[in-house]
Amino acid sequence: MDYLPIFLNVKGKLCLVVGGGEVSLRKTSLLLQAGAQVTIVAPDLSPAYAGMKGYTHLAERFRPSHLDGHLLAIAATDEAATNQEVSTEAKRRNIPVNVVDNPALCSFIMPSILDRSPIVVAFSSGGASPVLIRMLRGKLEAMIPQAYSQLALFSARFRATVKSRIIDPAKRRIFWENVFEGPIAEKIFSGDEATAETMLNTMIEHESKNVHQTIGEVYLVGAGPGDPDLLTFKALRLMQKAEVVLYDNLVSKPILEMTRRDAERIFVGKMRGHHTLPQEGINDLLVRLALEGKRVLRLKGGDPFIFGRGGEEIEKLAEHKINFQVVPGITAASGVSTYAGIPLTHRDYAQSCVFVTGHLKDNSMDLDWEMLARPKQTIVVYMGLQGLEMLCAKLIEHGLSELTPAAIVQKGTTPDQRVICGNLSTLPDHPEVKTLHAPTLIIIGGVVSLRKKLEWFKPGS
Ligand code: SAH
Repeated sequence: MDYLPIFLNVKGKLCLVVGGGEVSLRKTSLLLQAGAQVTIVAPDLSPAYAGMKGYTHLAERFRPSHLDGHLLAIAATDEAATNQEVSTEAKRRNIPVNVVDNPALCSFIMPSILDRSPIVVAFSSGGASPVLIRMLRGKLEAMIPQAYSQLALFSARFRATVKSRIIDPAKRRIFWENVFEGPIAEKIFSGDEATAETMLNTMIEHESKNVHQTIGEVYLVGAGPGDPDLLTFKALRLMQKAEVVLYDNLVSKPILEMTRRDAERIFVGKMRGHHTLPQEGINDLLVRLALEGKRVLRLKGGDPFIFGRGGEEIEKLAEHKINFQVVPGITAASGVSTYAGIPLTHRDYAQSCVFVTGHLKDNSMDLDWEMLARPKQTIVVYMGLQGLEMLCAKLIEHGLSELTPAAIVQKGTTPDQRVICGNLSTLPDHPEVKTLHAPTLIIIGGVVSLRKKLEWFKPGS
């Protein structure tokens, strides 16, 4: 190891920054965040300093005596000679010194940080590869939710109580691991600290009476339309946490692969006209698994609350007082249209956009045709392939021009994406429509004509 990593308490301590430009501003800001008293020595200060308070500015050139009484020094000037002098003089006085972008003159270096205060993660390659460090930091940035701050503060509040109630250190460690891995942490992440507190108190009670009860929970997660890159950070985190996964046809294989490797995967999808498991069966299964103490992931295509029956599933969970959380996903309308090069709204073509289901019931479609046939509106139809002909005919009957552009997109955002364009009169008879496979999404409106200009996603690329 080339450097010793330490975290320094600079609260109320004098720290010297030499230089008044943008780099000095960044260092000063960091020092102030850590509670230091900052002295800036620079003939001029960058105008960017205007909004910052809490430092002392000496409008002078650097003199060695400026170092007196300071805990550390940072040189951030663009004059090599001044930086060199700050370094030499600080080292002579045994004051730790950092010269920005000049490791040879430094006695300490400042790491790249990931701030979830009170948790702070510091990264350094000792100057060997700042780009690698930035990439690594980016990865962890995505993995560590912002709410880890709240989680750490929450555990700090209860640390003493837990210590006094659970005496055995090994048991205490397991207790905290269960808190951080389980539903209490999830409550904190979703901002419900009051419930988290109640749950923690119950857990302490159980622990001190030696009653061990595992609490299950359900994550209703939107997996987006197919491309794994469209998952949210939260979706991915919960996917890697759950022990049981319930999924259906809309969840793409690469996404399913991203769930925990050792998780039990249960297919609860529906084949058209042939329900593998009726909705009530899925609701009951979720309840049963959670009551067994499992962390259950209900993975749904797109967004769980858009034509996803997510509402019914959580109603049942709420009835049984089972902890759950819902993670929104990118719905097909949004993801599929974007990948097909069709913006849902556009100043010249559409000021509104409606999502409807074109599901046929007794061979008819129960839709508000007057509302749908309004001008300057985009209509996105989910589950509409079987009723495509009726849909187009009805819209024309209610006043939309036969020439209104319309597109149908198969398996949008995946390598099997296919887009067929036409208009309300030509699309239903397009010879390729018969060769399409579910899922497909229909988009109707002037915005479809923009596709030629905007398409960028090439299937398989
Ligand atoms: N909750 C989902 C929709 C479920 S309904 C969401 O928010 O996207 C199922 C319908 O969604 C399908 O019949 C199809 O119309 C549409 N759909 C979902 N994923 C799709 C995709 N990748 N490409 C095209 N249509 C898709």
